[in-house]
Amino acid sequence: MKLCRYDDDRLGVVRGDLVHDVTDAQTEIRKAAPYAMNGDAVIAALPQWRARLERMADGAATRPIASVKLLAPVARPSKLSCAPTNYQAHIAEMEKASAQAGSQIVRSHSSKILEAGMFLKANSALVGPSQGIPIRFPDRRNDHEVELVMVIGKAGSDIPQSRALDHVAGYCLGLDMTVRGREDRSFRKSVNGYAVLGPWMVTADEIGDPDALPISLEVNGEVRQNSNTGNLIYNCRRLIEFASAFYALYPGDLIYTGTPDGVSPVKPGDVIVCRSAPALGELTIKVSAHEAGAV
Ligand code: MN
Repeated sequence: MKLCRYDDDRLGVVRGDLVHDVTDAQTEIRKAAPYAMNGDAVIAALPQWRARLERMADGAATRPIASVKLLAPVARPSKLSCAPTNYQAHIAEMEKASAQAGSQIVRSHSSKILEAGMFLKANSALVGPSQGIPIRFPDRRNDHEVELVMVIGKAGSDIPQSRALDHVAGYCLGLDMTVRGREDRSFRKSVNGYAVLGPWMVTADEIGDPDALPISLEVNGEVRQNSNTGNLIYNCRRLIEFASAFYALYPGDLIYTGTPDGVSPVKPGDVIVCRSAPALGELTIKVSAHEAGAV
């Protein structure tokens, strides 16, 4: 099943080119959820609601996907947990950039993620395709990083690799946008709009092997990143084991798995298209200029 959020916080099941409106289910689920719960109520309720959502979608009003404003498919993750350098070819390009800039050379070996750990992006950075990416610092380098994103479905801690994928509700495409610079990574990567998620969540049962998905990105029609999650240094199971050794994972938590090589700057006016065909689809988003005071 493909689940999307759209327009003014509506819930939809995507079938072909149509969105089937199942917002009533979302309203009921949220009403029954304790305010103090950790994580996203709708993602947490999916195992119990899955069959009912499919039936509701059968008789629901539909709209063409092209006519709706897609939001991030998860409304309230408790955290955005992100892998730093997790593709060897991306480590190599960052070393090169670092050496050219005369700064300290990034150590390159597969244990780097083990030493660095995961990092967090602010939840408030999260946007969907229709919301765009507002650039606050046009004079600095603002890079795209296309990534496979796992959506956690079941709470867990100290999760072994053998059971890791049982904790995944689904997968999305994501962009871990970055302002390059000397500030702490979580500060530079938490600009509003710098965590993109979409175009919808594909439930895990539709994805055979998350470690064998093509992933690519183009800017204004030009391919910049083109790889496969088979090249991940820490694969999806290992990332869940690694993250959950430090903190509990909750339904709706997002794990950004890291970006392959080819990261490059974008500017207001650019259009970014991320793809993982055919399973995860295509995410299109515009880069814009930040308006002072905009929240
Ligand atoms: Mn990244």
